[in-house]
Amino acid sequence: MTDGPPAETERRQQLAANLAALRARIADAARAAGRPADDITMVAVTKTFPAADVRLLVELGVADVGENRDREAAPKAMECADLELRWHFVGQLQTNKARSVVRYASVVHSVDRPRLVNALARAVGDGGGAEAAEPAEPLRCLVQVQLDDDHDPDRGGARPADVPALCDAVAAASGLRLAGLMAVAPLGEDPTAAFARLQAIAAEQRANHPDANWLSAGMTEDLEEAVAFGATHVRVGRALLGQRPLLR
Ligand SMILES: *Cc1c(COP(=O)(O)O)cnc(C)c1O
Repeated sequence: MTDGPPAETERRQQLAANLAALRARIADAARAAGRPADDITMVAVTKTFPAADVRLLVELGVADVGENRDREAAPKAMECADLELRWHFVGQLQTNKARSVVRYASVVHSVDRPRLVNALARAVGDGGGAEAAEPAEPLRCLVQVQLDDDHDPDRGGARPADVPALCDAVAAASGLRLAGLMAVAPLGEDPTAAFARLQAIAAEQRANHPDANWLSAGMTEDLEEAVAFGATHVRVGRALLGQRPLLR
């Protein structure tokens, strides 16, 4: 590792300290839940933070990075094209962005409607064109579950009743692989209750698709609760990178 300019050195130290604290939190949560810590993958959500931070995180051993807007993620992924990492798309996804997202993302956490399944499958299929020399990895997809009845459509998610059919559609789509479920805890509700509902929905989904055993849940404020209810992937932004600028 070479010494960069002082500001970079300072940022690296800050990220290293945050990462160590976060890994300890995840390990404690796993121990409390009677689960091995390596059951849980940490996805570093780098939205609003620069590609330079992604680079530092990868140097520190982070392999999974998440973003929620294609407009920001696509150029950042280009800047990081030389790095060994997996990009996770975790935000609301418009069908007209599918083509861009499949160029860099290995995982989409926010599949919440049939039209998006079709758009992603088509985008993956078309992407095979020019670079088709080696067969593309299937795009891993998580079906996002809406956990509040009084739902804000901006936050995304399929109603629990629609989840089984959506999982079947992903599993049947060529180029896509159903990986499991994802959810965001509702605002203003005890996350324990919400994640308990999610765990029950995940158990039903695994009965139909046993290999699709990922459960993406838990963020800076509620990762302990999510791990207690079976999360395999936590998506963490602020605890790792710091407070985001307010205007985003
Ligand atoms: C921003 C974001 C996160 C990370 O949230 P923090 O509270 O910063 O940990 C996780 N998931 C999604 C979908 C996000 O948009």
